Amino acid sequence: MESLSSAQTALRFAAREFAQEHLRQCDPLVETGSTPQERFAASRPIYQAMVSAGFLRRCIPAPLGGDGSGLVDAAILAEELYGENGGISLTLFGTVLGLMPVILGPNDELRDRVLAPFLKTSGTPLSAFCMTEPGGSANISDSVPVEGLRTIALQKQGGWQVSGAKKWVSSATGWDGKGAELLCIVCRGIDDAGQELGTGILATERPQSGIVELSVARLIDSVGHRAHLLPEFQIKDLWIPNQNAVTPMGEGGAVMAGAFTATAALVGVFGVALMRTAWEYTLNFAKTETRGGSKPIIEHQAVGYALADAKSTIEAARALSWRACIALDNNLPGAEELAIHAKVFGSERAVEVLGDLMKIVGVESYDRDCPLAGLMQDALALPVFDGGNMGVRRKQLHQIYQLKDYDQHSTLA
Ligand SMILES: Cc1cc2nc3c(=O)[nH]c(=O)nc-3n(C[C@H](O)[C@H](O)[C@H](O)COP(=O)(O)OP(=O)(O)OC[C@H]3O[C@@H](n4cnc5c(N)ncnc54)[C@H](O)[C@@H]3O)c2cc1C
Repeated sequence: MESLSSAQTALRFAAREFAQEHLRQCDPLVETGSTPQERFAASRPIYQAMVSAGFLRRCIPAPLGGDGSGLVDAAILAEELYGENGGISLTLFGTVLGLMPVILGPNDELRDRVLAPFLKTSGTPLSAFCMTEPGGSANISDSVPVEGLRTIALQKQGGWQVSGAKKWVSSATGWDGKGAELLCIVCRGIDDAGQELGTGILATERPQSGIVELSVARLIDSVGHRAHLLPEFQIKDLWIPNQNAVTPMGEGGAVMAGAFTATAALVGVFGVALMRTAWEYTLNFAKTETRGGSKPIIEHQAVGYALADAKSTIEAARALSWRACIALDNNLPGAEELAIHAKVFGSERAVEVLGDLMKIVGVESYDRDCPLAGLMQDALALPVFDGGNMGVRRKQLHQIYQLKDYDQHSTLA
């Protein structure tokens, strides 16, 4: 299916080794800390180790100073890391998402300036793509008067004054609640005459003292991704100069769509990663456990067939997700559609397969000490994040099929 370069094969083994050393056996507080802040703080040394290992640089394209050769590199990392700890891995991929607007956007000067801290192999730099808002964001592209997007940027002399609220944005308020190193904020521009200018993306770098115009309303205690920070926060009169405009107002939609197309393919890989870890655990359980019977449970045909069905799904989801990544890396015509299929299929099948594997293991799977429970908690996020499959992703496919020049054969390229 995939033909990896020698550098990519080396990355796969380095990431697998890292995952076993740092993610499989890690500080228990990462999962069991009593508050989201405590769990996130406990994950910081592991995130730092990921940065030191060069994994963040590997997600930044080489022509921009990183080590990345494309989305396939990120897919390799995702499959090896995410199945061992989804929460901490998502801190890495959330930061990559936070950088995507500046990577994809047209402002070269901004890109060179703000990427610098993320190219180092030291520290714990965070970046966040601030799109989602309290009250829902599935209709973010709907224009006024519907107000799918409610964060406002008022045009002033030399820049923009931004106010609004955001929710569910990975790592956005940073390690100390005063802001990630870089925030890319999706907002609606309004000029000084009160005229709507459409959707834009503005970037703000955290000053040393933190962003004082940002206040945390609450840290979400999410079902899974326990080590991951998901704040709800307010932005009040945040000043962003013109040189920090990622896109002009009215031109943010395409960059936003580009960023969320790449992540769609990766979410398919996240599903593969969770299923793969769960399948390996279940296979071992089935081969070693008799559950009081005369033979290991794998010898019961029902168990063997259920394992086979689960493995077929994993292989299919992997093939689709990798195909989408390769199509995106090569700008193939069906790339967007493939990426969305990978997201929908990989995410929904992961929830199903996790449930099926829990049935094979039986009641022991319902103990928190069994890894399947934690994997299921993480899997539940996949269909509802990165653009929910109902409100966003199927809607995108529906829109693609309504295009006059839609060609179903484009995914064969
Ligand atoms: C772990 C995690 C990390 C996240 N990280 C980020 C991040 O870094 N940045 C960020 O901005 N967001 C982030 N999110 C939020 C995430 O991306 C959401 O998927 C996104 O905000 C959209 O949510 P939604 O699709 O549920 O939309 P909502 O607007 O909340 O819609 C809810 C439901 O309403 C229905 N609906 C609404 N409109 C329509 C419609 N037009 N057609 C059909 N049905 C409709 C659907 O049933 C939909 O599921 C994160 C979420 C999680 C859980």
